[in-house]
Amino acid sequence: MIRITDILDKVQRYVEPADLEMIEKAYIYSAAVHQGQLRLSGEPYMTHPMEVANMLADMHMDAASIATGILHDTVEDTLASLEEIEKAFGQDVAFLVDGLTKISKITLASQEERQAENFRKMILAMSSDIRIILVRLADRLHNMRTLQYQAQDKQKYIARETLDLYAPLTSRLGINWMKTELEDLAFMHLHPVEFQDLARRIAMKREGREKYTKEIREIIEKEIQNYDLKGEVEGRAKHYFSIYQKMQEQQIDFDEVYDLLAFRIILDSNKVKECYEALSVVHALWKPVPGRFKDYIAMPKANNYRSLHTTVIGPYGERVEIQIRTREMHVWAESGIAAHWRYKEGDLLRGRDEEQIRKLRDLLEVQQDLKDPREFMRNLKVALFPDEVYVFTPKGEVRAFPKGATPIDFAYSIHTDVGNQCIGGRVNRNLVPLKYELRNGDTVEIVTQTGHHPSKDWLKYAVTPRAISKIKAWIKTEERNHSIALGRDILDKEFKKHHMKFAQVLKSDELKKVCEEQSVTDIDDVMALIGYGKVSARAIVNRFLPGEEKREDSLPEKILKKFKKPESAGISITGIDDIMVKFAKCCNPLPGDEVIGHISRGRGMIVHTTNCPMVHDLDPERLLEVQWNVRDKQTYPVHTRVVCHDKKGLLAELSASISLLDINISHATVDTTPDKIAVCEFDLEVRDLKHFNEVVSALKKLKSVISVERVRVSDVKTDKKKMH
Ligand code: MN
Repeated sequence: MIRITDILDKVQRYVEPADLEMIEKAYIYSAAVHQGQLRLSGEPYMTHPMEVANMLADMHMDAASIATGILHDTVEDTLASLEEIEKAFGQDVAFLVDGLTKISKITLASQEERQAENFRKMILAMSSDIRIILVRLADRLHNMRTLQYQAQDKQKYIARETLDLYAPLTSRLGINWMKTELEDLAFMHLHPVEFQDLARRIAMKREGREKYTKEIREIIEKEIQNYDLKGEVEGRAKHYFSIYQKMQEQQIDFDEVYDLLAFRIILDSNKVKECYEALSVVHALWKPVPGRFKDYIAMPKANNYRSLHTTVIGPYGERVEIQIRTREMHVWAESGIAAHWRYKEGDLLRGRDEEQIRKLRDLLEVQQDLKDPREFMRNLKVALFPDEVYVFTPKGEVRAFPKGATPIDFAYSIHTDVGNQCIGGRVNRNLVPLKYELRNGDTVEIVTQTGHHPSKDWLKYAVTPRAISKIKAWIKTEERNHSIALGRDILDKEFKKHHMKFAQVLKSDELKKVCEEQSVTDIDDVMALIGYGKVSARAIVNRFLPGEEKREDSLPEKILKKFKKPESAGISITGIDDIMVKFAKCCNPLPGDEVIGHISRGRGMIVHTTNCPMVHDLDPERLLEVQWNVRDKQTYPVHTRVVCHDKKGLLAELSASISLLDINISHATVDTTPDKIAVCEFDLEVRDLKHFNEVVSALKKLKSVISVERVRVSDVKTDKKKMH
C-alpha cells in the first residue's frame, strides 16, 4: 500500500511546505472518515485514494489536486460534508471535490450516449477546472487496474464506459500513457478471449522480436550519430488494443498485422529542423512507403500532438513505422495537458513555456492573461465549448443550454407549467434572479408560485427557442383573452346604446353570418377582432338596427371630432386637439417611455408604450405619433414586482423606502412561498420614468431584495391576498 510519506517525498520537491501540511492533513481526514471501509479486494478503502493521489504526484500535479485525490470519495461515500472539507482545506479543494462528486453521479445509460461527442464535451466542460478531470481520470485508471474484484456485469459496464468515454477524453487531452493503459485494461475485460490470444501470440514472438528491435535501433542510432544528431531510439510493441483495433478495422488476421512494432527517435535538441534531418536520414537508409508520411509538426493534431510519422521498408522487406520528435514534443505526446505541471522544474523546457502555453491556450480557447504557468493552470477553465453550458437538475441529470441561458430557459426545459409559474431560481442552493446566466456545473432548482405568469420582460432573458416560443404563446393567449373580454364589453355597450340586449342577438343567424364573413369560427373570435380594433362594434350593431338608424362606420378623423376635451391627458398630438386620452392598462406608460397613440373605435385614443406587445396587433392606420406633455403634479400608475427573502418587517422596510421618494402605494399584495421567498406586488404612483427608476434602485439596495421588475397589469392575477 502506498504510504503518505511516499507521496510527500515525491511532491516535496515541487510544492510549498504549507502544501505538504495540507496533503498530510487530507490524509488524516480521509483515513478517519473511510475508517472501517473495505474495497471489494478486501483491502482497506484508503488504498484507493492513496493510489490515485500517488498517480497525481507522479504527474506532478499541484497540492490541491493531490489533496483532492486523497479526498475524492469522501463526500460521496462517507459522512463527510463539503462544508467540512471547505473549512478544513479551503475553497479550492472543496471546489475540486465537489466537481468530482458531481461527475461521479452522472450515469450515461446507453453506449450511444457515452459515445456521443456531446457527453464527452459535457464531462470536460463540467469540470470547469481541468484538475477535476485529471483527478477523475486517475480515479478511473486505478479502478480499472482493480476491476477484477467487481462482479462480472459491472466489469463489463465499467470497461465499456472507459472505452467509450474516458479513453477518448485522455486522447483529447493528449495524455497518451493513460490512454494506452485504459484501452488495454478495457479491452482485457471486454474481450478476454481475444485479449489472451493476442497477448499469447505477441509473447510467443518475443525473443525474435527483441533481437529484431535491437538491430533496427542500432542501425538508426548509428546513422543519426553520423549526421551529428543526438538522441535516443525506442522500439516497442504497440499496445494490444491498437493492434486489435487494426485487425478489426482492416478485417485482417494477427499474422497480417505488419506493424506490431513502433520505433521512435527522440532528439535531445529542441530544434525542429533536426526532426526533418533525422527524417531524411531514415529515408536515405530505407525506402519510404508512399502515402505514409505525416507531418504533425507543421500541422499539429487538435490536442497539440507534434511528431513526424513515416513508414519505411526495413532490412527484411518488412514495413517499419517510425516517429520522430524532439524531447519536448515527446513530453507533450505522452502527458498532454498534464505535462504542464512539469514546467516548474524547468530544466527541460524553460524558455519555451510561453509558446507552449500560448498553444495550449489556443487549444482550449481560453481568454486569459498569460501569467506564470502554475498560476495559469490553477485558473484554467475548460472553455472548449464556448457556446454551451451544462447544468444539473437537483436529481443530478445533465442538461445542456446555449450560453447565456437563464433559469427561465431551465424552467421551460422541465415543463411549460414550471416555466409559466417560475418566479426565480436557486443555483447551488442560493437564490438568483430570473436573469441570472447559468454557468457550467451549476445545480439549478426552479422556484414556482401557483398563479404566477410570464411577463414580456422574460423575453429579454430567455435564449432557448422553446422558452421564447412558450412565453410568446402565453402572452398571445393572454392578449387574446384580454381582447375577447374587451370586445365583448365594447359590443355590449354598443347594443345597450340602442336599447338592445346583447344576449338576445348572441344566438341569431346574423351573428353566424358575421363569423363567416370574417372567416372565423366562433363568436369569441369576433369579440377578439373587436377587441383588437379590427372590426368595429358599430358595424356589427348596425346589422341589427332598423334601416334608418344604420350609419356608415366612421373614419378615424370623424371619430376624433366626436371626442371630448382631454381631461388630464399629459399627451399632445401634433395638429389635433380635443381628444379623449386614456393610458393603456396593459403597459401603463410613464412619462419618459416612448409612446404611441391608438385611435380605438369608440374609446378615444389609447396611449401605449411603443414596445407594448399589444401594439403589434393594432391596425397601423389607426396609430398616431404622440408626445408627452406633462403637467405638474400629475402621477401615473405603475405596477412593480419585488422578489425578496422573506423576513420580519419586510413590508415595512419596502414601503419605507418607497415613501421616502414621495411615492404613493395605491395597492400592495404579498405572497410567500414555502421556501421563504416573498413576492410583493405594488401599484405605485410615480411622476415619470426617472422617478420610477429611482425607486427601483432604492429597492435594489435593500439586502433582502432579489429582484425588482416593472410588470404589465394584465399579467397580474387578482387571486392573491389583498393587503390594502
Ligand atoms: Mn474513487
